[in-house]
Amino acid sequence: MRIVGIAEKSLDISRYRDPTIPSGGLTTSIVALTTDVVRQGKPITGYGFSSMGRFAQSGLIRERFAPRLLQAGDVDPLSAWAAMMKGEKPGGHGERCVAIGTLDMALWDAAAKIDGLPLHRFLQQHLGIDPGGATDVEVYASGGYPYPSNDLGRLSDEMKALRAQGYGKAKIKIGAAPLGQDLKRIETAQKTFDGAGCLAVDAMNTYDADRSLEAAKALSPLRLMWWEDVCDPLDFETQSAVTAVYPNPIAAGEALFSVAEAKLLDRHGGLRRNGDILLFDPVHCYGLPGYLRIIGALEDRGWSRRSFWPHGGHLFSLHVASALGLGGTEVNPLSFPPFGGLAGDAIVSDGRTAPPDAPGIGFELKADLIGLFERL
Ligand code: MG
Repeated sequence: MRIVGIAEKSLDISRYRDPTIPSGGLTTSIVALTTDVVRQGKPITGYGFSSMGRFAQSGLIRERFAPRLLQAGDVDPLSAWAAMMKGEKPGGHGERCVAIGTLDMALWDAAAKIDGLPLHRFLQQHLGIDPGGATDVEVYASGGYPYPSNDLGRLSDEMKALRAQGYGKAKIKIGAAPLGQDLKRIETAQKTFDGAGCLAVDAMNTYDADRSLEAAKALSPLRLMWWEDVCDPLDFETQSAVTAVYPNPIAAGEALFSVAEAKLLDRHGGLRRNGDILLFDPVHCYGLPGYLRIIGALEDRGWSRRSFWPHGGHLFSLHVASALGLGGTEVNPLSFPPFGGLAGDAIVSDGRTAPPDAPGIGFELKADLIGLFERL
């Protein structure tokens, strides 16, 4: 089984359901990885993309990692990963980890399709994980980006739409506006997600030391599910100062991409193993092999894998959370179309949902998304 072709394209990707709202110029790379395995007259092709919230990696994929992958030719995701990493130097993670993660997603999709298994089952088999645990995963709806006009009204409508899709928990963004305005956003969202621990907030790494402590005081009484991405991801001084005074769960790690950075967060961020949340993105962290190393390193330091709630909000993260028995994962039901959200007729029941049963990741069940991939 060989890789015989790799195609890549950069696409605009929007935080909003309405893509005409300016969204910071975000892009993502989509890749199609063709194999020499033919079924029903068609080659098996694996698809991947660069997860959410960062940028396309066209140059790195085309010039560095796709040629290495093609030269190695091997479809096995773990040995293909080693081929992509050959000659890479320690440190300087930049966003090469996102380029590798994008191709890694397509490798897993192709390999699971060749075996005729949904990715979560293939992962358990391939990684020697006992398949006895629950297949379904705890999820919450992610969204709530600030709107350029009528923010509170549109936020309220968005929260009601998420609730109507069956979600009992949601996460909104704060940090872009003065604290008083953000408190109004939280109050608005909590009218729909009103129970204790039903609403999380994501400050998108925007607070400096002073604003973090001011926010900690204001957010403490609000019974939030968690407070995510407080400050610059490498500002462990601020992170630990906040964690020392904020009594409720903190979530961190979304913008850290390597094992070395994960260990620094654990050592210096003040996070509490009995309630704080780890958000590392399996695509952004050099793909699944890199993500597994982070889980292993932090488990060795006393963390439970139930503390891991991978960032992403798409089907790949859902399969990973299911296969590895993680605490849960986010879903982007409305943001980042058509990459976010669940497949086809999937439903959320009692705060949980299962990954698709189709072979591979199941992008084929999302009509608008598979069209993008197939046109590659
Ligand atoms: Mg975040």
